Amino acid sequence: MTLLLFGDQLGPQFHSGHDEIVMIESAAALRRKPYHRQKLHLVLSGMRHLAAEFPGRITLVRANGYREAIRELDRPLVAYQPGSAAAHRMLLDLGVEVLPTPAFALSREEFSAWAGTRERFLMEDFYRYQRTRFDVLMEGEKPVGGRWNFDTDNREPPPKRGLLGVPAPWWPEEDEIDAQVRADLDAMDLPAVGRDGPRRFAITREEALKALGVFLRDRLPHFGPHEDAVLTKDWTMAHSLLSVPLNHGLLHPLEVVYAAEDAYRDGAAPLASVEGFVRQVLGWREYVWHLYWHLGPEYQRRNGFRATAALPSWWAELRPATVRAACLRTALEGVRDHGWVHHIQRLMVLGNHALQRGYDPAALNDWFVTSFVDGFPWVMPVNVIGMSQHADGGVIATKPYLSGGAYLNRMTDHCATCWFDPKRRTGERACPFTAGYWAWLDRHEAQVSGNHRMRRAVQGLRRISELDEVRARERDREIF
Ligand SMILES: Cc1cc2nc3c(=O)[nH]c(=O)nc-3n(C[C@H](O)[C@H](O)[C@H](O)COP(=O)(O)OP(=O)(O)OC[C@H]3O[C@@H](n4cnc5c(N)ncnc54)[C@H](O)[C@@H]3O)c2cc1C
Repeated sequence: MTLLLFGDQLGPQFHSGHDEIVMIESAAALRRKPYHRQKLHLVLSGMRHLAAEFPGRITLVRANGYREAIRELDRPLVAYQPGSAAAHRMLLDLGVEVLPTPAFALSREEFSAWAGTRERFLMEDFYRYQRTRFDVLMEGEKPVGGRWNFDTDNREPPPKRGLLGVPAPWWPEEDEIDAQVRADLDAMDLPAVGRDGPRRFAITREEALKALGVFLRDRLPHFGPHEDAVLTKDWTMAHSLLSVPLNHGLLHPLEVVYAAEDAYRDGAAPLASVEGFVRQVLGWREYVWHLYWHLGPEYQRRNGFRATAALPSWWAELRPATVRAACLRTALEGVRDHGWVHHIQRLMVLGNHALQRGYDPAALNDWFVTSFVDGFPWVMPVNVIGMSQHADGGVIATKPYLSGGAYLNRMTDHCATCWFDPKRRTGERACPFTAGYWAWLDRHEAQVSGNHRMRRAVQGLRRISELDEVRARERDREIF
């Protein structure tokens, strides 16, 4: 039977063992939403590279849309479970046989057995299950080093020197396929956002292995300590930049975590860094995939704080030039220029701003999917609806990831040069994150006061004398 492959199913775990393979380049899919230009590039480049590597075995069909192309193929097709419920429904509608995906370590059945009748899904519980299940960083039944979690070792503030000073990540070299993709995208006149730029992420298996190798050798030893920090002039810090090759199916999560474990056992990387990295790949990544299917489409409509503000155009269209808050401007510039910023910028800057300003969580979820090179429907709901916006009422996290300027001042180097003052909550120079923090608490006090992890914050709110001023100013704030 012919195998139908999607653009995020590019690795050998998908195509080996199949003799006849079809991929569809759908013009309608490229045009459907305002995707980041570099994301469009990666998708086309990845599919075209794979087709060029296996001529005769893999055929790339250019079509207006998937449905039309699948009907025209007019033969029995089999596909692996895709990365969105919409694509899954389409395959079933069109009579395509759907196989379980080989892209994740844990199967759907095993996840369901773990989830059982739970209503709250703590990542830490899932992560420990995964470590044991796949025997990663274990000594018998105990975690190596006697602890499951080295997060407390991994919260160093940013170094004063402005750069982390770790070896550079592996960068790809573009080839003639990339040149053709660029020319085709220019000609298509798509409703894209963000800037075009040199391709920054691995998109073939060979490149993915090189990127992984360089990360393990040069950067994994530094991964942990500054994981939660942000530096204006160091956009990659010690992060792996592996989300693109992982999410395009070019690396298997188990090969990645076993290789990281080997680095620890060979003495090439400290346990805190390796554990931190394993937690991301074997914990968080698997957790968000399984919960996407387990929680279903209703979860994506959750809006516990009734946040309905539309995304402003400077945000949606990635035009940060007028943004004065250095942290927010730097994060939006990163998205504009690379379609990627690291985790803390996504969570503590972009997500935090969106929460404070009451952006509609579903619209924000879509924005993350389309604006990030590693954004896919399955990866977003738990990260955006759950973690960052707490719109699910606490299914995922025990409290909202809300913070003011003091936190940003401690964990980033932005505030020193920022027009706003992180200590001020009123007046012209009131930091939008500091004032936004109190304004948000004030608006949602009744809802969060029962949460014991928010109690101190709520008590702090009651001690603020100029609350009326904060309230009035933040309601109408236009300058960020
Ligand atoms: C609001 C928000 C939006 C996000 N959007 C995406 C997204 O579109 N695509 C995406 O892959 N990740 C997303 N993440 C998770 C995380 O921020 C990125 O995976 C990471 O920044 C990618 O860079 P990296 O490869 O250098 O990661 P590293 O910091 O090196 O981490 C290693 C790997 O762990 C995995 N990982 C870590 N955290 C998560 C997580 N929370 N969810 C899923 N995988 C995780 C990724 O595969 C990543 O490559 C989001 C997080 C938040 C809070």
